[in-house]
Amino acid sequence: MVCEKRQFHRDYIKFEDFSSNLREVYKEKLFELFSGANSNEQSNSSEGSQLLKPEPVNSQLLIKDIASLHDFLVNMSDLTGCLLIMTRDGEAVKNTGTGFVVKIRKEDCHCPDQQGPSEGQTRHAIVTISTAYHVFKEGDQMPNPRYAEVSQAWGCYKAAFILDYNEKYKTTKELINSSFPKLYGDRLVELDKEPDLDCDWCAIECLTHESELVESLEGKLSKYQSGLAELYQKSLTVYKDVNLVVIIGHPHNWSKRISIGKTTTAKEELRVVRSNQIWCRYYYDTLTCPGSSGAPIFKWGQPISGFGHWFGHPHNHVGKFGLGGKSTIGVENII
Ligand SMILES: [Zn+2]
Ligand SMILES: [Zn+2]
Repeated sequence: MVCEKRQFHRDYIKFEDFSSNLREVYKEKLFELFSGANSNEQSNSSEGSQLLKPEPVNSQLLIKDIASLHDFLVNMSDLTGCLLIMTRDGEAVKNTGTGFVVKIRKEDCHCPDQQGPSEGQTRHAIVTISTAYHVFKEGDQMPNPRYAEVSQAWGCYKAAFILDYNEKYKTTKELINSSFPKLYGDRLVELDKEPDLDCDWCAIECLTHESELVESLEGKLSKYQSGLAELYQKSLTVYKDVNLVVIIGHPHNWSKRISIGKTTTAKEELRVVRSNQIWCRYYYDTLTCPGSSGAPIFKWGQPISGFGHWFGHPHNHVGKFGLGGKSTIGVENII
């Protein structure tokens, strides 16, 4: 089937271009966005309009801040993987999507198939991957999947989460047989069963004994969380008016792609939960295609809600909104 957004496909940034040191592909765009929002410089200059031009950009601070945003996004992409929803026997792939590592916890290992506790294997890890219900949608069935349907589908399928798929196209079969790090879904996290809301965020838990992979992901997750807090601070102080929505995912089951866009309407506020948090949804023009469902979203200035007991509940990409898209319902702090 020909993709209706085919003409825009060239706007996707390949991970290999994105992660390179030159960053030429998108840095001009970011400089333009961030130089226009540098309130300190604007307030000190009577020629503020010049700052809206993408160049010359000579502020060392701006260069440094763009570089740290870039590092943050590269690290975020390392926590992003391709989700394959397969039949139980692993023979046929029913659907593909994107997932994101949001939480890792350790447990004592009593798995019967382990060779008894050996060094580094007395505990295993449970890695939580956030995604969207749509990933479990098969063909035209389940137009708006609900928890009950996803839960039923979960019993029939096997979910594989594949990391480091960063270059060159691979078929789903090649991905399954590849040497990329993989995690397998163990449990569907039962959340968001609100009957009157179009809930579409979901998470799966993957049990793993691969301690090196877990250690590496833990380091990246911790860097992601501190980076998120630092960038949020900058959005409150220096760069207040930046409208930036970045999505990292695997559209069309391609190797990792990054797309950059902006919100197109005000966020939709659905419900206040607890005393200071809200369930909400974003609408944006950031490019996505089938396969992007579940892809993590970075929105500049989004009030983060932390990763506590009821962890962050981030926004993921879920579906269409005009030519652009919309996020799953996520949680954030009320400010
Ligand atoms: Zn175990
Ligand atoms: Zn497409």
